Amino acid sequence: MTVVVKIGTSSLTAESGDLRESAIAQLCAQVADVRARGRRVVIVTSAAIHAGRAVLGLDGGDAVTLQAVSAVGQTRLMRMYESALDAHGLVGGQVLLAPLDFFERQQYLHARGTLEKLLDLGVVPVINENDAIADDAIRFGDNDRIAALVANLLHAEVLVLLTDTEGVLTADPRVDVSASLIEEILEIDRELDAVVTGPSLRGSGGMASKLSAARIAAWSGIRTVIANAERPNVLIDAIDGVAGVGTTVVARDTRWPARKLWIAFAVRALGHIAIDEGAKRALVERGTSLLGIGVTSVDGKFGVGDAVEVLGPDGVVFAKGLVSMRSDQVAEVAGRHSAFAPHVPDEVIHRDELVLMP
Ligand code: GLU
Repeated sequence: MTVVVKIGTSSLTAESGDLRESAIAQLCAQVADVRARGRRVVIVTSAAIHAGRAVLGLDGGDAVTLQAVSAVGQTRLMRMYESALDAHGLVGGQVLLAPLDFFERQQYLHARGTLEKLLDLGVVPVINENDAIADDAIRFGDNDRIAALVANLLHAEVLVLLTDTEGVLTADPRVDVSASLIEEILEIDRELDAVVTGPSLRGSGGMASKLSAARIAAWSGIRTVIANAERPNVLIDAIDGVAGVGTTVVARDTRWPARKLWIAFAVRALGHIAIDEGAKRALVERGTSLLGIGVTSVDGKFGVGDAVEVLGPDGVVFAKGLVSMRSDQVAEVAGRHSAFAPHVPDEVIHRDELVLMP
């Protein structure tokens, strides 16, 4: 059984921006307990940028500066993890991931292979985004998503997102003192997304990004617990499902196959295909492939095998898939029968490569 635990910048840094070594030590002590109970643990950690800023005495900066800053902070961060894990006889291994590692199927499989091997070797992988090379345009931006994708990649049992609040609250406690903890979420819906706005104090993600991470986990058949990093024994209690530990987002009963999950959540869409009502019904109700005849418009430039989002006539994205033809070919067959263009495949998106989005 594998547990993925993510800890955010706000829990790891003091107001001055300095890393809180005690928070890392606390987390690693709990990781050691979980390991002693026979589970494998992966840590996803933030705070490289904050740590680097504190060292260099920089407060802000453009994207390139932050990339450079993260390189300084990341080594300091790892040094602390190394000594904190070492204190419990554990070995850590740094893995830095960039979005492309999830978008490209081959890279995705490589990442999985490496992480699994590290776990087999008894190592505690310590993951962060590869901030030093990922610029603003291609960054994940938050580690919640990385943690969810890693949990999915490794078929984790539970995803624990540690933050600076008790969990998901009914309102922002900074503006509403009556805000209370939501202990269990069965289905993440839009109303809930609206309740939980605003970033955490020093982190980049905030509750909305935690909920979208939890959504990825739920569809991967993985339970998520969002809880306060400061709570004693939070990790073990979260794994054991102790009541009141934080907010639990329940896993869905059926987990999608890995490829479907990859299409839905990991790969980036390079374009949009809008389709008519009849075609939408065929996809949703009969699980058919998407044919050119149902396409009303296409935008973006993509090639065979790239991912696109599919919109219904109401303009809402309801599916995502890997296309069997290039964007210019989709434009050519839009609204026409396949016989019209014998040089392109019959389907725009084959049913096996199409996912109806949650
Ligand atoms: N990767 C960023 C860092 O280590 C943090 C991203 C986040 O806060 O989620 O500084």
